Amino acid sequence: MGPEVQAFEQEFASALGVKHAIAVANGTAALHLAYIASGLSPGDEIIQPATNFVAAANMTLAVGATPVFADIISLSEPTISPSEIEKRMTSRTKAVVVMHYGGYLCDMTEIHTICQNRGITLIEDACHAVGARYLDPQNKALDYRMAGTVGDIGCFSFFSNKNLATGEGGMVVTNRDEYADRLRQLRSHGMTSLTWDRHQVPSNSYDVVSHGYNYRLDDIRAALGRAQLQKLERHNKDRQKHVLDYQRLLNLPPGWTIPFLNYPGDSSCHLMAILPPDEETRQHTKQALDQAGVQTSFHYPCITGFKAFKQIPADGLVKSQAFGLRVITLPLFPSLLTSQIEEICSVISDSAIVKTKDLSV
Ligand SMILES: *Cc1c(COP(=O)(O)O)cnc(C)c1O
Repeated sequence: MGPEVQAFEQEFASALGVKHAIAVANGTAALHLAYIASGLSPGDEIIQPATNFVAAANMTLAVGATPVFADIISLSEPTISPSEIEKRMTSRTKAVVVMHYGGYLCDMTEIHTICQNRGITLIEDACHAVGARYLDPQNKALDYRMAGTVGDIGCFSFFSNKNLATGEGGMVVTNRDEYADRLRQLRSHGMTSLTWDRHQVPSNSYDVVSHGYNYRLDDIRAALGRAQLQKLERHNKDRQKHVLDYQRLLNLPPGWTIPFLNYPGDSSCHLMAILPPDEETRQHTKQALDQAGVQTSFHYPCITGFKAFKQIPADGLVKSQAFGLRVITLPLFPSLLTSQIEEICSVISDSAIVKTKDLSV
């Protein structure tokens, strides 16, 4: 953690318009530190979406807290529902974690108000949303805020498949000084000074003032991150264009859903998700794409369906479950060609039409 890490942190903070950015080893470490810095501990409940990568839930268990899953708004807006968050509040609720699915922001105005009124920490899993901008002309305080800076703490991942990639890597951002100090300390063994600091200002001792971790990012990855940050806006614009092309070229029969059509904000367009009418059609579509040499993925199965989460109540997650069984994510990356999108869309449309004929026979 030398000058490249420091420069990456400063440039990242300035790109997001946030006071502190603390570079860490990965997105999961970012979430773990966010939970510890905000004082989450055994017995606490953390409300979060079940339509998410498993890291936020795993780290909930790592701090001894209980994940309480709240359903998504709808299949066409698969982010956590503010009214479902309210329904799941108890006296033990200490934090809400939101996840900006695919780089499309949650209803942050509503969720921010809910958390503020109850004095509950709001943590953003912004791993899909680096460079995404929130739009709410009704609320001047939040309008045009960058994803990750609306709540108390924002968490980012720079894993290889994210919009800003360093191989492994992550960042925690916050406007609150007391969180930033704690995050910096926890990142490196709870030590008061690090090897690089002692090299700069010779001293031979340090204290350990809390039980910390080694969640540091190294200078080599920070240098990659700085170069990637320069390209982020252009790459996100390219992704936006590809999403519009997909939406224009996908010719789907009734029963199919494309989430976030006519989204008003400035999305980082991390994922291109579509929902066939049912699980069987999804399998059929996936096979047709496999055969055409097109890789697809499922973001995300409902977390309560995983073996390690079977003991967590799954009631009231009807939409998250349906979404998880139907969603299929298509290739999306800056250098994707329009001709490739055309090819992918025609494979999907052809297989959808054949499928619809099958059903009607
Ligand atoms: C990638 C990702 C994570 C975890 O980040 P790692 O860097 O892989 O630890 C957490 N949440 C979401 C939504 C992600 O996409």
